[in-house]
Amino acid sequence: MERLDKILAGTGRWSRKEARGLIRAGRVTVNGRTAASPEEKYRREDLVLLVDGAPVSGERYTYLMLHKPAGLVSATEDPRQKTVLELLPGHLRRIGLFPAGRLDRDTEGLLLLTNDGALAHDLLSPRSHVDKRYFVRVAGRLGPADCAAFAGGLRLEDGLVCLPAGLELLEAPDEAIVTLREGKYHQIKRMLAHLGKPVVYLKRLTMGPLRLDPALAPGQWRPLTEAELTGLE
Ligand code: URA
Repeated sequence: MERLDKILAGTGRWSRKEARGLIRAGRVTVNGRTAASPEEKYRREDLVLLVDGAPVSGERYTYLMLHKPAGLVSATEDPRQKTVLELLPGHLRRIGLFPAGRLDRDTEGLLLLTNDGALAHDLLSPRSHVDKRYFVRVAGRLGPADCAAFAGGLRLEDGLVCLPAGLELLEAPDEAIVTLREGKYHQIKRMLAHLGKPVVYLKRLTMGPLRLDPALAPGQWRPLTEAELTGLE
């Protein structure tokens, strides 16, 4: 059994304080009855919860889209460096969120933060073949030979054998879109360094059906929409 304000805060939409405010204002309905107090206790599983008439039951987990800025590590804790979790307000740092998949410290772009371990596992498992697309800028000029090398599956000096990957040239000769089905450590940097064109800028644009919202500036985040979440499941 858990307190109602805690259950509401656990959805990631409200802080405990905000949840108490909603309950006291009579805006929360539990199993068809207006909740009277934040201290009422329930089992999450048996709950049909409405706030202002809209269902929030079943939301046991939180899913946030973050536009990761450069300079932060994709981890929940780090003894020396700032983590992406530090971009979130306090109430969202205490609900077990973690980044589903890593981006390097200097990489920007789409990062999913969730506390749904099963969904993160499915998304990241090599067997689920979730494509990820990245915008990349290199030192050098990219050409058709590089596209062919990506498509053929690169074999790196350090022993990494890459799955066939996409390299789509853009108008500027030093820019491209890379599509990967896997995510080995520093993979794009290693692939392009192997071709003699080191990465100078990298940004993730998509993960499977999920696209980085262009309205999010680096450092900003928002909850996934219902449609985005359904697309992932
Ligand atoms: N490939 C890289 O080299 N770095 C990233 O952050 C993601 C993919």
